[in-house]
Amino acid sequence: MDVKTEIELNRGLLDFIQASPSVFHVIDNLKKRLEEGGFAECREQDCWKLQPGGAYYVIRNDSSLIAFRLPAARKPEEGCPFQGYHIVAAHSDSPTFKIKTRPEAVTENRYVRLNVEAYGGMILSTWLDRPLSVAGRVAVRREDGGLDTRLVNLDQDLLVIPNLAVHMNREINNGYSYNLQTDMLPLMGLLPEKGPESEEPVRPSPQGMLLREVARELGIAPEDILDSDLYLYVREKGRVAGRRGEFLLSPRLDDLQCVYAGLEGFLSAVPGQYANVLAVFDNEEVGSGTRQGADSTFLEDVLLRVQDSLGYGPSVYRQVVADSFLISADNAHAVHPAHPEKADPTNRPVLGGGIVIKYHGGQKYTSDALSAARMRLWCERVGVPCQTFVNRSDMMGGSTLGNISTAHVSLRSVDIGLPQLAMHSAVETGCGRATAQAVAAFEQFWRE
Ligand code: ZN
Repeated sequence: MDVKTEIELNRGLLDFIQASPSVFHVIDNLKKRLEEGGFAECREQDCWKLQPGGAYYVIRNDSSLIAFRLPAARKPEEGCPFQGYHIVAAHSDSPTFKIKTRPEAVTENRYVRLNVEAYGGMILSTWLDRPLSVAGRVAVRREDGGLDTRLVNLDQDLLVIPNLAVHMNREINNGYSYNLQTDMLPLMGLLPEKGPESEEPVRPSPQGMLLREVARELGIAPEDILDSDLYLYVREKGRVAGRRGEFLLSPRLDDLQCVYAGLEGFLSAVPGQYANVLAVFDNEEVGSGTRQGADSTFLEDVLLRVQDSLGYGPSVYRQVVADSFLISADNAHAVHPAHPEKADPTNRPVLGGGIVIKYHGGQKYTSDALSAARMRLWCERVGVPCQTFVNRSDMMGGSTLGNISTAHVSLRSVDIGLPQLAMHSAVETGCGRATAQAVAAFEQFWRE
């Protein structure tokens, strides 16, 4: 099997991010790669007939995905189909703006802006003065009266959120609080003047303007779009930067760098005694409490049904879970060069320093001595360095997938991440070397 170089992996990562402007596209692109790798889809509403040695995936809400590869068959007298589950979990969503229904808002009878609301907590100012566009999914009426889901990406420089000129806001550099409802609505276009010189002979109604663009992109009638989940995205493609290509500058590195590294490691690792699982959850940025988020029954439902389909009952499920392991992979804060005081005094991860193991006394991160030690061993075996992250004791940190998932499926777990700066900026600064390091560590974990 060919091993991809660091450069190939980062090129693949940046292409993947560009091709995944919304959470639905993330899952669709994962699905395509899994299909190419011989994985078969299991739909939750169907009966599953799984085979030992088989490779499968399940999608919920078009926005979360769990893929699994089962080890070869064991003898029935062994009492269980395999030793346990080896799971890597990451999240498919990133902070962005959700476009409200009836979004068109007209100012001065000329400017058409879109009404949006925040999805997750982003650095608002980074979204201004750069080309943006719209992607997501729409529910489309079928001729037989049913519904279809269509993904859409208005793949053009469509929108901009312009700053107020410094002359009109002299205080901008002394700290300005952007108002989500007034400052952050993206400008989509101008209503044309009426008259013979107008490009459009009849002045179009601003109402439905966005959906007309979506319908044109999909080649359908606007009235066949019954509803939509549409989001803004940053147009610029991620790139490798720095004197020696040390950095990645890209939207959505949190958490698509972990998703992509997980996918690459997952596709190349052949399971040993454990069933390999890649779990990618939506809605981490808004608390995970949805039908498809980490705080749902999705993971438990899938793992239970795997046992069930192989002919084993709930008791064997618990036996198998007891010897399972979860790596919760979500990008981590490296020490910021301008603000080294924001980091813990003794745990100071840097870009290029290796995989970050995250700890938290209050158990927002699930790492403990035993789970972190196992992670260190997997990294050690493939020559990947580890570093550690703990919040300053006087600072609140974020939460992530690990402790939420393990509340539903109680297995041993470690929280890790790849070091980055500017988390939740429109364009984040990540670490070029970390992608390959994560792929190597995940592969090692999945080969056990
Ligand atoms: Zn994250």
